[in-house]
Amino acid sequence: MPAEPECIFCRIVDGSAPSTQVYEDDDVLAFLDIRPLSRGHTLIIPKVHASGLSELDPAIGGKVFQVAQQVALGQRRSDLGVDGVNLMLADGRAAMQTVFHVHIHAVPRRNGDKLNVASRLLLRRGGSSPETAALIREGIGRPAADG
Ligand code: 5GP
Ligand code: ZN
Repeated sequence: MPAEPECIFCRIVDGSAPSTQVYEDDDVLAFLDIRPLSRGHTLIIPKVHASGLSELDPAIGGKVFQVAQQVALGQRRSDLGVDGVNLMLADGRAAMQTVFHVHIHAVPRRNGDKLNVASRLLLRRGGSSPETAALIREGIGRPAADG
């Protein structure tokens, strides 16, 4: 039997670790962050392991960003009540990267939530519900609003 990968996100990709999935295709996976900065906080990752940007095939990087864009738009179109989204990527320990498998954070923001998000940065709680993921998937499937 092949050894389990040491990387937690590779384990999520191969199914040996659980995740609450938002989106999947051949190259990219999106799932809820286990300690969300806000409800719906999603991580978008390449399926192939790359510890940082220098290891990432730019063509795959482009696909990861395209999915991040779709997730952000889906969050905004969803019934989660999202007014804005922070897309963030930490590359390197100095940039506060803690999981060394490239990922983009899509953090839903609500008007006036600054203090709430700031306090969660310090005290991060668990929580990634299947209902939240379903609402984002529904949002991704929704057409853009007119105007
Ligand atoms: P970084 O600080 O590297 O940009 O972000 C890593 C993110 O991965 C953090 O927001 C953290 O909560 C999340 N994370 C760490 N381990 C797991 C895990 O096992 N499952 C999920 N869903 N998220 C994780
Ligand atoms: Zn990995």
